[in-house]
Amino acid sequence: MPELSVVIPAYNEAENLQALADELWGALESLGATFEVIIVDDGSVDGTFEILKSLRKKYPGLEAIRLARNYGQTAAMAAAIERARGNILICLDADLQNDPKDIPRLLAKLQEGYDVVSGWRKNRQDPWLTRRLPSQIANQLISWIMQIPLHDYGCTLKAYKREFIQPVRLFGEMHRFMVALSSLMGARITEVEVAHHPRRRGASKYGLIRTFKVILDLITVKFMDAYMTKPIYLFGGWGLLMGFAGAAMSAVVLYKKFFMGIFVKDQPLFQVSIFFELIGFQMIFLGLLAEITVRTYYDIKDKPIYFIREVAGSQTPQADSVYRKMPV
Ligand code: UDP
Ligand code: MG
Repeated sequence: MPELSVVIPAYNEAENLQALADELWGALESLGATFEVIIVDDGSVDGTFEILKSLRKKYPGLEAIRLARNYGQTAAMAAAIERARGNILICLDADLQNDPKDIPRLLAKLQEGYDVVSGWRKNRQDPWLTRRLPSQIANQLISWIMQIPLHDYGCTLKAYKREFIQPVRLFGEMHRFMVALSSLMGARITEVEVAHHPRRRGASKYGLIRTFKVILDLITVKFMDAYMTKPIYLFGGWGLLMGFAGAAMSAVVLYKKFFMGIFVKDQPLFQVSIFFELIGFQMIFLGLLAEITVRTYYDIKDKPIYFIREVAGSQTPQADSVYRKMPV
């Protein structure tokens, strides 16, 4: 078993891979630890997988996985994380915007006793209006809502103790929430400043649209944090509140009808009370449905969110079973 697993998602990064491998091996070999590098080709159409296979001649410790189509960075990372065997996982981008020379500093922090060390691209080399500004707002929002004081959730360069990342299930574009999700498992988290380079070759895969996804993912993660095992507390709580408010309004309507002689048709509160009561009932039943759903979820959640086309240089014994599992 290697001590370190480096996991890298790559989508149309053919031009970057040679330099990435050279820099990565340069940094990793000087560490004096055993390591493996898993690069997941996320359905590239520019020959990324062919280059990965040819790199294996020089770097036999490289494992290349080719997903059956482009699933997105999150699924690509999930595919690599699932197969990693090292006790420490290091995530990195394939485009050399992250610098492999920062890896020793991340590892040193882990040795201080942290479970997750997050890279902070303090001098981020991306456009300001479309990338850095939205990211800054998103980072502050996530820190505030999740109560984790980090500057840079979006930086891929992070180091994790295996037990705090491998069990995490990732969906959609939730790779930005990997740290938040490991914190839900009780991980001790810190950050270190890391270098960031402008993209020299290939194109960025993201635009402004992702900001909206971040907000929706944040709501999801916060909900999972607070109510995943007991959704009835949230839905039922609001349901009861609305139900009681509706009942109180009905009581006022009836009091006015019988003791003050005001007809129900002259009391707009009557309609409002019915609205509250109906929504209240709905919320409680929604909560019960959610309860059934989470119970099922906890029973069947070992399904991967991707499907692999081929693998070169696998050292993972259970590789075959990953082939056969169907994506959700
Ligand atoms: N990536 C991927 N699948 C995708 C989009 C991106 O595997 O559908 C990889 C990409 O190859 C890179 C990393 O995710 O290694 C980050 O992507 P990118 O550099 O485009 O993001 P940015 O640095 O611009 O935020
Ligand atoms: Mg990049």
